[in-house]
Amino acid sequence: MKVYLETYGCQMNEYDSELIRAILKEKNFTLVDNRDGAEIVLLNTCAIRENAHQKIFHRLDELKGQKRRGEVKVVGVLGCMAQNLRKNLAEHAPVVDVVAGPDSYKRLPIMLGSVLEKNEKSFDFRLSEFETYSDIAPRRLPGVNAWIAIMRGCDNFCTFCVVPYTRGRERSRAPESIIAEASRIRAEGFQQLTLLGQNVNSYRHGDYDFADLMRDVAQQTDMPRIRFTSPHPKDFPRKLLHVIAEHPNLCNQIHLPLQAGSDTVLERMNRTYTLQEFYDLVDEIRETIPDVGLTTDIICGFSGETDADFEKTYQAVERVGFDSAFIFKYSERQNTIAYRKFEDDVPEEVKTERVMRLNELQRNISLERNRAEIGREHTVLVESPSKKNPDQWLGRTDQNKGVVFSAQHLKPGDFARVKIIDAGTNTLMGELLQDDHNPFQIVDAVPAVSGSTL
Ligand code: SF4
Repeated sequence: MKVYLETYGCQMNEYDSELIRAILKEKNFTLVDNRDGAEIVLLNTCAIRENAHQKIFHRLDELKGQKRRGEVKVVGVLGCMAQNLRKNLAEHAPVVDVVAGPDSYKRLPIMLGSVLEKNEKSFDFRLSEFETYSDIAPRRLPGVNAWIAIMRGCDNFCTFCVVPYTRGRERSRAPESIIAEASRIRAEGFQQLTLLGQNVNSYRHGDYDFADLMRDVAQQTDMPRIRFTSPHPKDFPRKLLHVIAEHPNLCNQIHLPLQAGSDTVLERMNRTYTLQEFYDLVDEIRETIPDVGLTTDIICGFSGETDADFEKTYQAVERVGFDSAFIFKYSERQNTIAYRKFEDDVPEEVKTERVMRLNELQRNISLERNRAEIGREHTVLVESPSKKNPDQWLGRTDQNKGVVFSAQHLKPGDFARVKIIDAGTNTLMGELLQDDHNPFQIVDAVPAVSGSTL
């Protein structure tokens, strides 16, 4: 049976899809890259915002026609939306045959078998306190970056967040299995590794913590670039900052979700830090890693957010000067604490206006910070041809800023040394200095130019 798997949502879902491919391949299902001709269509879904749900319902409508015409035999919904809506999902969308939550992927071959052989729908939403899938070798698509989930679930219960309900309790993988997988990934030719967790600071294996893990992955694999996402500001390990500063293959980039700038809102969100504590952390990060790239997530219009609360978020964004920010309207999720305890009382148009104001501010800050890069040199990892101009390359700096530049004789996965010659809000423009750059060389000690240059 040919299976087509579509992935929606975050990097954790991308990683889970690699696990799902491995589990199905092991049981002789054929994974195809094109939806035409696939008898089984699986959607690996997200539940973080209402529009993520709407997108899947729309996709299921399309599949209804294909199933009626006999082009598709089985439709499955997997992941966070499956776990969140459970049987209601199949009641709302009868086209769905299989509903499996994030801890049920090992049972997928049996579930698909029961639909194919007995024509019975199959549902599984059991969350596990132990499942880490560390015994499954993900089937990765070729590329530059590989992911490893170092932990699953979350115990933080931020009041707006559905993750603790869709992905269950926190559990960490053993460090040996992570380091072995990182070495395998490197041997397969990946140049960048991203360690994933809903809250990586909570990673624990006895006394061994996330900073220990980052140090050991940096030292025991020769992976040129290692990133991680996401840490929680409430318990960011200061030790980690020094580990990052001391290891050139740990990227100088931190995604630090602020969510709101008002202490009242932060408390209602159960974020358990104050704005001042966030500022103190940012100052320490910048002191320890001076050229760090800092990004964030912000929610506008959370329950009870007043104009004065929003102004505090606005001022916080001005004060910190993030390199970029993901700014969202609050989207109430069923089952969360906020859904049960608070009213979603900020009018839609106010949420929209706040998002627009904050986006405008952030665009100006991003542009200013990017312009400050003009004249500087960076080592970039080449990712792909530029979308706007396929004759140019898109690479990323250590700080995760995109740089577009022209060069011959390059391919994705190569490192190049570039000088920044111009800057926009989202992207830097570069000029090639050296196209066979060793990422471990000290940034300022640029050796004689070799290979093709502009
Ligand atoms: S830390 Fe908070 S926002 Fe992040 S996954 Fe856990 S509950 Fe959700």
